[in-house]
Amino acid sequence: MVDQAVKLPELFALFGQPVAGNPTQEMIEAAFRARGLNWRYLTIEVAPEELEDAILGMRAMGFLGVNITKPHKIKVIPYLDRLTEAAAKIGAVNCIKLEKQELLGENTDGKGFLESLQTVIEPAGKQVVLLGAGGAARAIGVELALAGVKQIAVVNRDHNRGIELARLLSEDVGTNAQYIHWDGTYLVPSSTDILINATSVGMDDAYAQLPLDMKELREGTISADVVFNPADTLFLRQARSAGCTTLDGLGMLVNQGVIGFRLWTGLEPDKDAMRVAMEEALGS
Ligand code: NDP
Repeated sequence: MVDQAVKLPELFALFGQPVAGNPTQEMIEAAFRARGLNWRYLTIEVAPEELEDAILGMRAMGFLGVNITKPHKIKVIPYLDRLTEAAAKIGAVNCIKLEKQELLGENTDGKGFLESLQTVIEPAGKQVVLLGAGGAARAIGVELALAGVKQIAVVNRDHNRGIELARLLSEDVGTNAQYIHWDGTYLVPSSTDILINATSVGMDDAYAQLPLDMKELREGTISADVVFNPADTLFLRQARSAGCTTLDGLGMLVNQGVIGFRLWTGLEPDKDAMRVAMEEALGS
């Protein structure tokens, strides 16, 4: 070992299940390089029973920031000192910052989506149809509610998950939200301003069909997908044919990296370099 007074790189990591050639790591390291930062972002497999030790290890080893992925997004909360308002309402954390020895938990899922959405529409006062009621839908629903949308229809197959998300959005976040049971083909109402696929349908399958009827959609309605691989899903292609403006899930994913980078460094990253690195890592 060489014992010299050298400046070590700042450390960041992703704690979760193993992912070969992790695209998030490629994207964040590309952002560091583009800003001339000799910093490191590691992908570390953490077993559920080791999560507390891993989080304590962040402080011990001086990691300044960590992303959290499945299956730790909810279980990590007791080990943190503070949560942002959105992370507390969503009840899940995917980004941690070590700040003056305090661990701050943030959720960037919904914020990444919102940042994409705001490039094409201001959500305040708009009618939203949210397909799905899992983790992504929950994060997006909370951010849209905090952004002041007029109404959110939560459309989901599983009754309990759908009811619970509509309850959270109306009672805990104070928006006008209803659950609609997704049984058979769902006719998207013409009053919809923003239609969001927050289900996993379309991931790794460019031809996966959602049971939807979009014939009443107005031209110019915004249709957004959380699915990022492939980025151009059948849902988005069908929405474009119906005259919608579309947003893909890759933009949301890159924005999450952008938001994490800002939180950790206080700097504005090179978003284009991040998207290129992510596309290369995904082979898209
Ligand atoms: P969850 O497992 O928590 O939720 C999955 C949702 O998809 C549930 O609402 C489920 O409905 C619904 N669903 C699954 N299959 C069908 C189907 N055949 N028809 C109708 N609904 C269906 O997953 P997440 O919410 O965590 O993730 C959802 C997707 O979003 C994933 O593909 C994930 O990779 C992606 N994602 C993308 C991000 C980005 O930045 N672009 C960020 C986070 C996630 P039910 O409850 O009825 O089973």
